[in-house]
Amino acid sequence: MDHRSDAHQEIRDAVRALCAQFPDEYHRKVDLARAYPEEFVEALTKSGWMAALIPEEYGGSGLGLTEASVIMEEINRAGGNSGACHGQMYNMNTLVRHGSPAQREKYLPKIASGELRLQSMGVTEPTTGTDTTKIKTTAIKKDGRYVINGQKVWISRVQHSDLMILLARTTPLAEVAKKTEGLSIFIVDVKAAMASGMEVRPILNMVNHETNELFFDNLEIPEENLIGEEGQGFKYILTGLNAERALIAAECIGDGYWFIDRVTNYVKERVVFGRPIGQNQGVQFPIAESFIEIEAANLMRYEACRLYDAQLPCGAQANMAKYLAAKASWEAANACLQFHGGFGFACEYDIERKFRETRLYQVAPISTNLILSYVAEHMLGLPRSF
Ligand SMILES: Cc1cc2nc3c(=O)[nH]c(=O)nc-3n(C[C@H](O)[C@H](O)[C@H](O)COP(=O)(O)OP(=O)(O)OC[C@H]3O[C@@H](n4cnc5c(N)ncnc54)[C@H](O)[C@@H]3O)c2cc1C
Repeated sequence: MDHRSDAHQEIRDAVRALCAQFPDEYHRKVDLARAYPEEFVEALTKSGWMAALIPEEYGGSGLGLTEASVIMEEINRAGGNSGACHGQMYNMNTLVRHGSPAQREKYLPKIASGELRLQSMGVTEPTTGTDTTKIKTTAIKKDGRYVINGQKVWISRVQHSDLMILLARTTPLAEVAKKTEGLSIFIVDVKAAMASGMEVRPILNMVNHETNELFFDNLEIPEENLIGEEGQGFKYILTGLNAERALIAAECIGDGYWFIDRVTNYVKERVVFGRPIGQNQGVQFPIAESFIEIEAANLMRYEACRLYDAQLPCGAQANMAKYLAAKASWEAANACLQFHGGFGFACEYDIERKFRETRLYQVAPISTNLILSYVAEHMLGLPRSF
């Protein structure tokens, strides 16, 4: 079944052809070993897909977030997990749009060639959670360098990335007029940092998602690693966060179609009580319902990407796309698991793996409750609750 022929068919076909070289068994083995899909990410890099958002003058393909989202969708649609590599996509525009000419010149060609990976973004902290403006990690300017102290949690792909975008407070909260001021972002050389003040502790978790606690103890980074203007980092980090939400929406849509395809094929074939189980409306309806929700979420995902690519405000649409898509893929995952009966729990069917993977997106990168609260306050004008 493929009802999704669109303007991006060429990209879809090419990514599908690459993904076909990495069948279910590959992703299953990587998941069981809690390993990193190194060969897969390498193949994506060599084929240029990981440089999709890098302007052509720096060796990339100069595509938009819409096209990047199609790449991520196809990976998940093919049974893989973009979580291993999507950081490079959502971090890229933070550097492209807000980095200085010298920073772009220094990093972008090497990222495009695959010499460097920009897969990590360090925002979340253990004691402040979603309340981002309260983060306690500080960056204090001293003799042409910034000295970083503090702690982060759930920072993904650090061990498979050369660069990380880090959010830290440069002016104390008490000294700024607005809580979003006084935050800055930096580009961190991961290996150099690990040798001089950044400790990385992996967190074993439900998904095969390489993620870590980070501890900063007087980590010194060069002044020129500040991205944009000091104190304006919150604004810049939103470029990455909005991209992340739109991309993850696309990944959930890829997951959703994967679940729908699997379950549809299965319920046509599986005969119980003398007829295919898919003949029962009790089986058909949850599948049809989640399919409708995936299709609807897909429209919002394209709208979020369109606004992002036009550099228009897209926070609401990126949040709503992520909300709808994560919910739809989760419903599809539930139907897929349920109608496979006991077989859904067998690792060799890959359903339990994809079920775990897609569940993450109701919590990360932003929880459903926080999206509801954003919409209530910013779109409906309801009183601020926190
Ligand atoms: C596998 C994984 C990978 C991740 N990767 C990264 C990464 O690379 N970089 C990074 O910076 N972060 C990363 N994160 C962190 C992720 O973005 C956060 O976990 C997420 O934003 C939720 O924050 P929290 O865990 O601190 O939850 P909290 O802020 O503690 O919230 C917990 C729950 O409480 C509820 N809640 C909280 N406040 C409210 C409220 N005001 N109203 C209603 N409900 C509320 C929500 O349901 C929420 O899920 C990752 C997380 C995971 C699990």
